[in-house]
Amino acid sequence: MSVRAPDGDVYASLRAAGEIAKRVRSEVVGRVRDGVSALELATWVEERIRELGGGVAFPCNIGVNEVAAHSTPYPDSDYFLRRGTLVKVDLGVEVDGLVADTAVTVALPGADEGLVVAAERALEEALRTVRAGVRVRAIGEAISRTIGSMGYRPISNLSGHQIERYNLHAGVSIPNVPAGEEKLEAGKVYAVEPFVTTRSGAGVVRHLDRVEIFRVSEDSVIRARRLGERHEALVRRILEATRGLPYALRWFPDVDGNLHNLLYRRGIVKGYPVLVEASGEPVAQAEHTVVVWEDGCEVLT
Ligand code: MN
Ligand code: MN
Repeated sequence: MSVRAPDGDVYASLRAAGEIAKRVRSEVVGRVRDGVSALELATWVEERIRELGGGVAFPCNIGVNEVAAHSTPYPDSDYFLRRGTLVKVDLGVEVDGLVADTAVTVALPGADEGLVVAAERALEEALRTVRAGVRVRAIGEAISRTIGSMGYRPISNLSGHQIERYNLHAGVSIPNVPAGEEKLEAGKVYAVEPFVTTRSGAGVVRHLDRVEIFRVSEDSVIRARRLGERHEALVRRILEATRGLPYALRWFPDVDGNLHNLLYRRGIVKGYPVLVEASGEPVAQAEHTVVVWEDGCEVLT
């Protein structure tokens, strides 16, 4: 995989974000242990990112067993990691709005390590195919073939994604199954993230009613204004702090929970519902963020 980036701040910021993300991911692995609090783990990740000079691009996701994505501890969480569980840690680092998104899965003793190996190998095989002009279907093909050959099943309705400045899920999706005709473009940034479940799993996720990660935009401010000054002020404050990137309520401990809930129910605050494997089977994930070049890709994370 070659590195032929034009000089420019964008790629310097992306590489800086990537370096921090890679370091925090490698450091967190040893902290995923029996008896550790999920809240403490997520908080540690977010503080470590800031300590290394990055911004937190989205709340650290801690997904246990069948919880595939979009789960982050609430401020009052008393959940502790236990033996026999599969723990996904998904973290994002932002430097000047440029985001590196990466994830790792740890199988605590008694959990199926094979799922982790399958996710990692699928990611490796997927990245071998990545270069400008490749259709996203080819990446999904590499992922699903690798996972299938190891006796597991990909999650077909979760995908990687293009990343733009302050926009985590932009434009093109990178499927985990052969689907989609879009082509990767040189100089653009994509997250590739295979999700794997067991052969007896449904191979799809469904969403719960529970929402732990939120997002607001300029449009949210305009819509909140119609409800009142306090509503507008709250949304504006969150937007200024997050710049439109996802957030958790634990980042705003003094926010009126009822007011926030009302804004969510009105659709003014957007939420990402917790996603679980539809038949309750465990899920492993591996993820890297890459820049695509003419003859390969540069793994930022
Ligand atoms: Mn991620
Ligand atoms: Mn991602």
